[in-house]
Amino acid sequence: MVQAVVGANWGDEGKGKITDMLAEKADIVIRFQGGANAGHTIVNDYGKFALHTLPSGVFYSHITNIIGNGVALNIPTLVGEIKSIVDRGVPEPKILVSDRAQIVMSYHILLDQYEEERLGGKSFGSTKSGIAPFYSDKYAKIGFQVSELFDDEILEEKAGRVCELKNVMIEHLYHKPALSKENILKELRHYRDLIAPYVCDVSSFLHQALKEGKQILLEGQLGSLKDPDHGIYPMVTSSSTLAAYGAIGAGIPPYEIKRIVTVCKAYSSAVGAGAFVSEIFGDEAEELRRRGGDGGEYGATTGRPRRVGWFDCVASSYGCRLQGTTEVAFTVLDVLGYLDEIPVCVAYEIDGEQTTEFPTTPKLNRAKPVIEKLPGWKTEIRGIRKYEDLPENCRNYIEFVEKRIGFPITMISNGPGRKDIIYR
Ligand code: GDP
Repeated sequence: MVQAVVGANWGDEGKGKITDMLAEKADIVIRFQGGANAGHTIVNDYGKFALHTLPSGVFYSHITNIIGNGVALNIPTLVGEIKSIVDRGVPEPKILVSDRAQIVMSYHILLDQYEEERLGGKSFGSTKSGIAPFYSDKYAKIGFQVSELFDDEILEEKAGRVCELKNVMIEHLYHKPALSKENILKELRHYRDLIAPYVCDVSSFLHQALKEGKQILLEGQLGSLKDPDHGIYPMVTSSSTLAAYGAIGAGIPPYEIKRIVTVCKAYSSAVGAGAFVSEIFGDEAEELRRRGGDGGEYGATTGRPRRVGWFDCVASSYGCRLQGTTEVAFTVLDVLGYLDEIPVCVAYEIDGEQTTEFPTTPKLNRAKPVIEKLPGWKTEIRGIRKYEDLPENCRNYIEFVEKRIGFPITMISNGPGRKDIIYR
């Protein structure tokens, strides 16, 4: 059986924790899109970890962790991350990398930086990890696939082509030092040595695993609103964040994905620029940011303070719908225990009209939140394990949200640890 854990919003919903929890019963955990530009935070018996590239199953020795073909593979980051967890006492994880995954090159990272510099204040808030230039090259068919690392003739020819094309921009638009073919080839050979032990025909491996009835977990990065097609374009990421893409980014039939757990946080947060209708500011925001997540709402990869706001029923309902949600995991609920009243964005007002449909970006930029306030519960709910034991106002909040988003909330996370979960 294949299940997916994905995000309903802008990312940072707590997918890492839910994946880590569900991974216990999985045989295989797969990353199917994105790169090292975002991170998951996982708290377990080994400590607290921020993973950027490794699948969240790496803490269990029974799991095979896979980097699927849809991922932007940063080889030094991957190798560094494996070393960093092993150095902290985690047993050497089982890792396979798709021979069809493509490679983030050092020039992708440079081009990302140059472009952000050039755009100045009008930048997209890129994390400068080379993800956008990487995916552009993949679809322009000048990317390097892992399989190509083992064919010198292809590398030689392509490295030349890359230099010709990139150097026009690098010299004439960015006025930076040109790329050299020799350096690109050196980099590729170095990557070949690093990645060789992990390379695998992943779709064939998964085909066999499915025949054997193995439990497979697809791990999404970011959330629906960052999807390049269905998200807040152009303030989106460069690969699809939707569960459906799991089939493509891993190489499995779409009908095998039976369970789609969409993670929603009990309030909103976002990193980077872009429309965020229920965003709050000032002291109110500072307090939520400080109390949020596990030690504050600051990016796992970048350390940037996250933008925060109230729960957005319009965005979350849309986000869940696009994922094909079969159930919702509602996370970080414990954080809201300090509030007398909890504001919730229940609709948008656009050009004088109210709507609960999530609009395209030009309209979204004009949307104002319609807020309803629910009574708070004013107690610590961490440690509670049964739904009935939650304070009444807390249950009311969950049920209110559930009704508005239109998908069943079956898991409630009330703390960062593996055991802080209530099944319903
Ligand atoms: P992801 O990218 O969706 O995996 O999200 P992140 O891991 O970047 O952000 C979620 C943050 O919230 C992490 O610091 C988690 O440890 C923390 N977290 C997850 N679930 C809960 C929860 O139920 N309560 C609290 N307080 N923190 C949580």
